[in-house]
Amino acid sequence: MIPFVDLKSQYAMIQSDVETAVLSVLRGGQYIQGPEVLELEGRLSAFTGTRHAVSCASGTDALVIALMALGVGAGDAVFVPTFTFMATAEAVALVGAVPIFVDIDPDTFNIDPVALSHTIRALRDCDGASAALPRLSKAELRELTPRAVIAVDLFGLPADYSRINDLAEAEGLVVIEDAAQSFGASVNGKRAGALAPIACTSFFPAKPLGCYGDGGAIFTDDDDLAEKFRSIRVHGQGHDRYENVRIGLTGRLDTIQAAVLLQKLKVFEGEFEKRDWAADLYSTLLSEAGVDVEWTRVPIGSRSAWAQYTLKARDREAREALRTKLEDAQVPSVIYYPKPLHLQSAFGALGYTEGDFPHSEDCCSRVFSLPMHPYLTPEVVQQVVMAMRP
Ligand SMILES: *Cc1c(COP(=O)(O)O)cnc(C)c1O
Repeated sequence: MIPFVDLKSQYAMIQSDVETAVLSVLRGGQYIQGPEVLELEGRLSAFTGTRHAVSCASGTDALVIALMALGVGAGDAVFVPTFTFMATAEAVALVGAVPIFVDIDPDTFNIDPVALSHTIRALRDCDGASAALPRLSKAELRELTPRAVIAVDLFGLPADYSRINDLAEAEGLVVIEDAAQSFGASVNGKRAGALAPIACTSFFPAKPLGCYGDGGAIFTDDDDLAEKFRSIRVHGQGHDRYENVRIGLTGRLDTIQAAVLLQKLKVFEGEFEKRDWAADLYSTLLSEAGVDVEWTRVPIGSRSAWAQYTLKARDREAREALRTKLEDAQVPSVIYYPKPLHLQSAFGALGYTEGDFPHSEDCCSRVFSLPMHPYLTPEVVQQVVMAMRP
């Protein structure tokens, strides 16, 4: 079986450096906030071009900490795409705010700025006629204060921040970039992590930059926010360890994971190029073989981190047929995501229904992702495409 994400080949390449680095943490004894954590934060901030990179325990914690630092909580509304991983909207609910779902642009899979503007207007007018809103009473909707937008760089491709940031500024909302899948991606040379006033990423093993456990980071140029992130990360700590100035959590990145990430960062640029090369080869070969699918077209000036290589089949049945062919050829494929968040029972209390976000629902019924990682060979890419040949 071809691996969907090949972490073993990567480990074989960096094994001795990683083992030396981890052993040095074990022998050094600074398991919490050791020197590797500070070194990593410096390298991450240099890499993304942001003044601050604050490491934390996971991508979900990164989002929660960002929202907490903004003071987002009960009575607040945060706009999020419905076609994304659970954590994007879960973080909003975790701080007690209400996620307001928004449809996507089917060409990029990312939040549609036009739909976003309609949804913001609908919420301000407490009128779900022009865009679907939670089925709360008018009085309940009126109580909600719009505070922020979390745009997701889905599958590694940055969202349309030039329009999202402008719109949010005009509406007095803060933009948070969910860059969990897009570390390394860029728009006109500006890296993911630096595309909005606050960005969050994840170092879950299968993400573009992954550790060997859970981890995450928050990026910003704002000194005050960065200080809040650092405080919330450790129980709302003040200047002194036993002074608590706000409510926080245990949200630190382990020193061992920081040591792993320092080694992985060294090979990251090369891996990023190899993913990009594999994505190019996939689309060339798919087109040559006449496979009836659509692939993501990366907008001019953008580069995707290709966290996933995602295709759209003609319809649900065509997807099943293609996935059966792949399975017969021992090629794994995965559906990210089979159900949009507005239809998940976890958000059932919001009362959204089928038909609320047609593009997202349509994508859920047709998308599937192929093996994608930096250790794909031309032969394997060829084999995957040939398995789907008509
Ligand atoms: C993975 C992911 C997260 C959460 O990251 P964890 O480190 O698993 O908590 C958030 N948003 C998106 C879009 C993700 O893909």
